[in-house]
Amino acid sequence: MPTSQQDAFRYIRAKIDQLLAVMGTQPLRSDELDDDTLIELDPIGIVAEAFAQVIAHLNETNRRFDLATGEIRAIFDTLGAAVVVLDLDDRIDDCNHRALEWLFRGSARNQIVGRLANEVCDTADKLVGIRRSADGACHVVDLHSRDVQIVASRILDEAGRHAKTVMLFTDITPQKETERHLQLYAEVFGHIGEGVLISDADNRIVEVNAAVSRITGYAREELIGATPGTFKSGLHEPSFYQALWDALHRTGYWQGEILDRTRDGRVLPLLQTISAVRDAEGRLTHYISVMTDISSIKETQSRLDFLAHHDALTELPNRLLFGDRLNHVIERAEREGGAVALLFIDLDRFKNINDSLGHQIGDQLLIEAARRLKGLVRRADTLARLGGDEFVVLMEGQATPAAAVRLADEMVAAFRQPFEVNGIDLHIGCSIGITLYPEDGMDAVALLKNADTAMYRAKEAGRDGHVRYSAELSEAARNKVAIENALRAAVRDGGFELHYQPIMDIQSGRVIAGEALVRWSQGPAGANTPDCFIPLAEETRLIVPLGEWILREALASMRAWHARDLGLEYVSVNISAVQLAQPGFPDRVIALLNESGVPGHQLQIELTENVLMHDIELCAWVLTHLREHGIRVAIDDFGTGYSSLSYLKQLPIDILKIDRSFVRDIPGDANDCAIAAAVIGLARTLGLDSIAEGIETREQQDYLAWIGCDKVQGYLHARPSPAADFAEFVAACHGRLDDGLADAAR
Ligand code: C2E
Ligand code: MG
Ligand code: MG
Repeated sequence: MPTSQQDAFRYIRAKIDQLLAVMGTQPLRSDELDDDTLIELDPIGIVAEAFAQVIAHLNETNRRFDLATGEIRAIFDTLGAAVVVLDLDDRIDDCNHRALEWLFRGSARNQIVGRLANEVCDTADKLVGIRRSADGACHVVDLHSRDVQIVASRILDEAGRHAKTVMLFTDITPQKETERHLQLYAEVFGHIGEGVLISDADNRIVEVNAAVSRITGYAREELIGATPGTFKSGLHEPSFYQALWDALHRTGYWQGEILDRTRDGRVLPLLQTISAVRDAEGRLTHYISVMTDISSIKETQSRLDFLAHHDALTELPNRLLFGDRLNHVIERAEREGGAVALLFIDLDRFKNINDSLGHQIGDQLLIEAARRLKGLVRRADTLARLGGDEFVVLMEGQATPAAAVRLADEMVAAFRQPFEVNGIDLHIGCSIGITLYPEDGMDAVALLKNADTAMYRAKEAGRDGHVRYSAELSEAARNKVAIENALRAAVRDGGFELHYQPIMDIQSGRVIAGEALVRWSQGPAGANTPDCFIPLAEETRLIVPLGEWILREALASMRAWHARDLGLEYVSVNISAVQLAQPGFPDRVIALLNESGVPGHQLQIELTENVLMHDIELCAWVLTHLREHGIRVAIDDFGTGYSSLSYLKQLPIDILKIDRSFVRDIPGDANDCAIAAAVIGLARTLGLDSIAEGIETREQQDYLAWIGCDKVQGYLHARPSPAADFAEFVAACHGRLDDGLADAAR
């Protein structure tokens, strides 16, 4: 307790200082406040002043506190996260704006504060549950279909007891979404078939996916930190990589095919796309390279390319590739003045083998023929297959006429050795036409065409040889075109006649039938015999309309002869393979029969063995169909074809016609006599009739009669003649016989 007034002032002064210290104000300076001064001061005034200062200070503090509280509330309310403070009874003590919007359906704060959570919030159970655990850990829960992260922390009171819980709700749906996307990208990255390689701005590899390892053979660990140069094959020029980097720097992108080397040293073609990746500031951060192994595509491509330019059967260059090479070689010869020779090779009678032994044997034979030819040409020369049984050789460099002829000679000689196919020895020759550049043609088309013409000349000259092209050959080829045109006109304008040759029965001396033989008397000289124009008519398919005219005409004649009661059994008509293969051929024949009124058994068709062998199943069907209408079938020129005898049993055949070539030297030639006897015996065994063709002498006929042939046809009796003359011949012949019989009877 102060003992004096001075003590009292000192006491007051100490209290004032304490007060000022609490307010953070400087204590009164002691020199300002010595005892005398203090005494002069009005202590009451000082105390009042001090209190006024304290009040002002408290007001200022309150104002600042209010400001701070307002600021905190503003921050609290602008938080993207919802904040809720719950007391231990789960009453809402406070919450921010976002919480009102999001958790309390837009209610006002005063409607919420003080209420129980489960009264105002439909997800209260989740809040309360987490509130109770209030452990500061993160919980992610589904709130209104959003992913929400909740962090709850305890607020302690002065005594350090858990008083409230503050809960922070953050909507992390976008992060979760990004996370899911990243996961998906990682999955794709790992499983994609394409290799993906990521390198940094210094081109050091930072990541590769499994496909890169599969493609290159390097493990991921070996590649991280390395550069893509690890894969360099050494097969590209530095300029290739330079261009790649130029493009990457210029456009940020490069795509192309690149040859890389795998870990085990194989070279792989890859399709690569490289992109430069830049950050927001445009700084280069990474390169992403996507690679596809295109080796199988390349293989397919080169196989397709090979197939497009090669013949699948023999694997020789085809017409397309050959044409390219020929053009190229001619261009070079033109520039540099070299020689070029072309050999056009066609196999002789290949069609017969194909038709009679089947396409499989035919194909094998072509492969063998190609191999044999290939063995004869130099590496510098090109052997190609143009199609079918046509091959061609392009000679370059030393392509002199003598060298071309020498090669052709070797080829013809090589083909004289039989080919062994499936254990069968096949004899097949070849005919070759030769052209030289520039003498025989200035361009590829002319050279090929003229070589083809020369080859045909070699065929006409008896096959199994070669012919060098000459201008006269072209003349002959042009002639052929002229003949073809004349033939077409004759078919259109009815320029043909039908002649008939009698088929005689030796015993009775009677004419039993007539064979229809077509005549083109107005045809160009040298081309107007059936042996010349029938093959041409077949080649041009003009035989179809011509054959129909022949059938109709022959049936009309037969009807007329029948009306005259000439006693003829049938008319025989030659049918070509082209006709027989015509769809609907048997129906057409039957329609013509019906049209003519001639019964089926009065018509015979003649087919050669090769026609039959062309398509034995089709023949069997056609002939059976015709046979159902009574039509007879004869095999013409029997013994000259390339056939097997088994078809004789399979097909409905009536007659074998022994070819003229076996009859000509009878009875002088023992072989021919034996063949004729064998054919007659065969026919008899099979229950067939036989007719000998081309009988010119009485000796031939007598001999044939002696060996059992009872029907003949030939100049000995009559040449083919027009229908009227033929009828007269028959009438006269039969008349004589009938008169003779009458005489004998008398
Ligand atoms: P092919 O069917 O074997 O006809 C017999 C050929 O021998 C006929 O020749 C005939 O005139 C001839 N010939 C008949 N007897 C004798 C003889 O004693 N001595 C000689 N040296 N020859 C004789 P052509 O008329 O020149 O016919 C030749 C071939 O043309 C025929 O042979 C046949 O394959 C074909 N041909 C004739 N006419 C037709 C026809 O109308 N249609 C069809 N598709 N082919 C026909
Ligand atoms: Mg005939
Ligand atoms: Mg004949």
